This record gives sequence, C-alpha cells and structure tokens, in this order.
Amino acid sequence: MNQGILLVISGPAGTGKGSVIAELFKQSSEFAYSVSATTRTPRPTDIDGVNYHFMTREEFERQIETGDVVEYVNYCGNYYGTLRREIEEKHRNGMNLILELEVHGALNIKKKYPDCVTIFLLPPDYETLEARLRGRGTECEEAICKRLERALEEVRCMSEYDYVVMNPDGKCAQAAAEIIAIVNSERKRVKRNLYLIDEFIKSHAKHKSEKKSDSPQN
Ligand code: 5GP
Repeated sequence: MNQGILLVISGPAGTGKGSVIAELFKQSSEFAYSVSATTRTPRPTDIDGVNYHFMTREEFERQIETGDVVEYVNYCGNYYGTLRREIEEKHRNGMNLILELEVHGALNIKKKYPDCVTIFLLPPDYETLEARLRGRGTECEEAICKRLERALEEVRCMSEYDYVVMNPDGKCAQAAAEIIAIVNSERKRVKRNLYLIDEFIKSHAKHKSEKKSDSPQN
C-alpha cells in the first residue's frame, strides 16, 4: 500500500476550514486529523483532545524544549503547534493526515516534509470572510480585527501553495470533493508508487520459479 498524503490545509479565519474538513470526513473514511496544541482559550464548542490539545503557556513551552513540537507559531497572541506524536501515530496504514495550519506553519511543514501537499482554501471575497467571521460569534471585536488583518497577509502567501480550492457560501461539500480529487490524483503520482516496480519484479521471479517447479523434468 502506498503511504497516505500529509495534507496541509490553510485559509484565513472565517474561510470555513472547519466545515470543509467535517465534510471531508463525511465523504471519505481515508482521512485522519492531526490535533494541534494551543494556548488559546477553548470556545464553547471545543473539546479538549478533539479540536485541540489545550495547554498553558508553560506546558506548551515545555513541549517545545523537549522537541515534541514539529512546528509552532504565535498567532494573534497564542501559541499553536503540531505535535510530533500526532504525525507519528496517525500518518500510517495508508491514511491521509490533515494538518490545519496557518501559513507560516504550513510553509515550515513543507520544508520538513517536502512530499506533503498544501492546499489553500479561499473565501470568495473579503466581505464574505468578514461576514462569516462576525457571524460565528466566537471572537471578541479585538480578536476579529486581528484575524481580519492577518487575512490579507495569509492570502498573499497563497502563491507558495500547491493547490487552491474556493469555498463559496453553501458549497462546502463541493470544496471537500475537490480536495478528495486532489488527494486521489496525488496518490497516483509515480514517485509515491515506486514500490510497485519491485512488487512486479518479485511477482515475475515468483512466476518463473513456480513454472520451473511445475515442469515435467522435476
Ligand atoms: P483558531 O483559533 O481559529 O482555531 O485557529 C487559528 C489559526 O491557527 C488557524 O488559521 C489555524 O489553521 C491555525 N492553526 C491551528 N493549529 C495550528 C498549528 O498546529 N500550527 C500552526 N502553525 N497553525 C495552526
């Protein structure tokens, strides 16, 4: 079996990454989710260990010191980071592992894991982004302003990504289907399937030796 894809998904706050990823899980059973660590305050709908591993600053800094964090950033005043154990434990058995990261984390992961696939999820326009961010009602005004400021910086970094997927209103299922199509074709790349050459050569050797043992001289 070829290895699953390490799939990095980014997009400004309010793009709808959460909804699209929830759709991905509805449409395919071949995805796992890397649960990041963060020091931000949990939202009412957040579940520790499911959405994030919520930590104090001290706990997070200890994880950095012990090398248990593969990449981390300070985003709008809080630490966010990918835990080594999440990648080691979940990126196996052919599963595609989703890392939902802001742009700096995404580019750092690309340096460490060049075979990963990076997808930028883009909202249709700034107005829609702002409306979605305000509409979800999970951030105070100060946090909304910080996130909107960051949005422009993030969209400029889109040029560094492998793919872009649009997420217009009410089209989450379509965006998820497009991501699955990208992952499926990435999995067909020859560089990810070189083991098939060996398997074919081995099957040839096996076939030859079986034929020999079946021949009347034996
Ligand atoms: P939120 O507070 O809305 O859950 O996340 C804020 C931003 O942090 C989002 O863009 C999200 O993708 C990003 N993020 C979440 N986990 C990580 C992580 O482990 N590393 C990095 N670099 N960004 C993350």
